[in-house]
Formats: sequence, structure tokens, C-alpha cells
Amino acid sequence: MDIKANLESVKKTFLNQDCLLVAVSKTKPLSDLKEAYEAGVRDFGENKVQELQAKQPEMPADVRWHMIGHLQSNKVKFIAPFVHLIHGVDSFKLLREINKQGKKIDRIIPVLIQIHIAEEETKFGFDKAELNEMLTSPDFVGLSHVKIQGLMGMATFTENKDQVRKEFKSLNTLFEELKSRELPAFVSLEDLSMGMSGDYLLAQEEGSTMVRIGSAIFGGR
Ligand SMILES: *Cc1c(COP(=O)(O)O)cnc(C)c1O
Repeated sequence: MDIKANLESVKKTFLNQDCLLVAVSKTKPLSDLKEAYEAGVRDFGENKVQELQAKQPEMPADVRWHMIGHLQSNKVKFIAPFVHLIHGVDSFKLLREINKQGKKIDRIIPVLIQIHIAEEETKFGFDKAELNEMLTSPDFVGLSHVKIQGLMGMATFTENKDQVRKEFKSLNTLFEELKSRELPAFVSLEDLSMGMSGDYLLAQEEGSTMVRIGSAIFGGR
């Protein structure tokens, strides 16, 4: 695997050079992360708390760690001090726990709300009604130690590009709708995290500001 060459060829295809590439290094050894770091990567994505905790102290301090996977409430405390962005906030309970842990260490933790856009039932995330319920809940305005920086979504795992495009489009539409809504100041809505190795170009066409790319950089898992 020539990680540097892979990075360059992926970057070259970007439709939007301002779109942030989060290098998804889950299951990969530190040597691979270091190679990517040498090639200029500073944003790394992991989907397991334990792995994130193990890798973080071994990498340079200017690495920005993205938690991209499903996060259990009881594990938030382990990453709260250093995580750069939590992409997969899929319940109000989890958001409240992140807020609580942020409060404890006096840190405002940036997060994305995960929206369920895929057809697969197995994927996580809020549907529109659940999101609305949270946003209008009296507890919501009282959150003091989270920053809701945007939305995240994962498309259905399918070859059908129209399907994937439709799902990304629906996420972008929701993103725009939210922006036009009156929401508390800690909801900043700057980022739309969508797109992986197989669909990042489609995602960029549909307005992604952040793509999470693993196998196209580090090879298969
Ligand atoms: C693994 C993973 C990715 C990266 O997937 P690739 O297909 O290897 O690019 C992106 N997002 C999430 C949430 C993941 O778990």
C-alpha cells in the first residue's frame, strides 16, 4: 500500500478542494497512520473508543481525532478530553451525556447529529420526527458544553447511484432547512459529513463538506 500515492490520487479527484478529508484509520496499525501523517494528514477517523484511546497518545499532538462510529454513552468520558469531533450522535441521551462530560472538564465538545438516511434498518441515526422532538425539547436549549457543528449520514450500501444520491440530497435538504430555523447559538451547522471511499464524489456533488475515507487510502480491512 502506497498511502501517500493513494492520498494524492483521492485528493486529485475531489470536486471541492475545501472538502475536509478525514482519513479513516480503523483497524490499521500505527505505522500506517504515521505514513499518512507524514503525507500531511491531520484528521484521522476511528470508530472504536478503545482503539482511539490506544492510538491517540502514540501520534503527534496536532492530530485531530474524529470519532465516526456508534458511540455508547458510558464511553464518552474516555474521549471527551481530546476528541476533535464526534460524528455519530444518534440519540438525545448520548448528546446529554457528551454535554455532561464536557461540563465536567470545562470543554465544549463539537459534535455532528447523525441522521438516518439509508434504507437499511441496521444503520443508526435520528429520523426527522425524532430530530424535531429533540430540537423542541425544553432540555435542549439548556445544553452548555456541546457545539452542534452539523449533520452526518451514511447512505445505503448499494451499487444504485440514484439511490445514494437521493439519500445524500435528502440530508442536504434537511441541513438547509435547519439552517433557516431559529435554533440556539450552540447549533452552528457548518458541516455536512457524508461520503466514504465508494461514494465520496456523489456526496461532494450533493454538498458534503467532510468525507470519511478509509479503504481508498489504507486499503481493504
Ligand atoms: C469505516 C467507515 C468509513 C470509511 O469507510 P471506507 O469505505 O473504508 O472509506 C466511513 N464512515 C464510517 C462511519 C465508517 O465506519
